[in-house]
Amino acid sequence: MAMRKADRPMTEAAQTGTPPVLNDPFARLQGPLAGTTRMRLQVVRNDLLTPAMQQVVLSAGELASFSYRPGQDIMLMVDVDGDRPVRRRYTIRAVDSAQCLVTLGIVRHGDGPGERWVRAARPGDQIEGIGPRTCSPGTSRPCPRSLRWPARCRPRLA
Ligand SMILES: Cc1cc2nc3c(=O)[nH]c(=O)nc-3n(C[C@H](O)[C@H](O)[C@H](O)COP(=O)(O)OP(=O)(O)OC[C@H]3O[C@@H](n4cnc5c(N)ncnc54)[C@H](O)[C@@H]3O)c2cc1C
Repeated sequence: MAMRKADRPMTEAAQTGTPPVLNDPFARLQGPLAGTTRMRLQVVRNDLLTPAMQQVVLSAGELASFSYRPGQDIMLMVDVDGDRPVRRRYTIRAVDSAQCLVTLGIVRHGDGPGERWVRAARPGDQIEGIGPRTCSPGTSRPCPRSLRWPARCRPRLA
């Protein structure tokens, strides 16, 4: 039985045919994305830490010279809808520049594109990431309300 498009993670979609030419608003890294890096990340590990929290470790050569500040995030292209990239942002938990690794913690909550991607991601899968992005209250560029963490998974700061 064919999978619905919405059930197909980008990684699988990318393997099953010619990738579509994307109508990508972030084709050029400018404006709020100036200073970010586009990376072809590869999944190294994807571990279920708790029933609701997945830890994903990704690698890319660009991480050798990648620096970030606490609270900054990486935006992953978790799916493609027609010719439009679907991206979700994940706060950087750790970067190991020597090993070219970045660690993300992703909450499993239901059935959005980000959730579907993290559920299906396996070591060796590739995904585009753009970062580091800044989006936190108290900076000169606060997060638009529509992009803030869902209330039930907002990180609690010590
Ligand atoms: C700056 C920034 C940093 C972020 N960092 C992280 C991070 O480190 N880890 C992380 O897991 N997420 C983080 N998020 C949220 C993340 O980008 C996605 O929004 C989230 O993973 C849901 O994406 P989705 O595609 O699975 O669901 P969506 O399609 O976006 O949502 C589907 C439905 O589920 C609801 N929903 C979404 N998330 C939750 C949730 N956690 N609990 C309950 N209901 C929910 C939505 O309201 C919606 O109704 C961050 C967001 C921003 C803006």
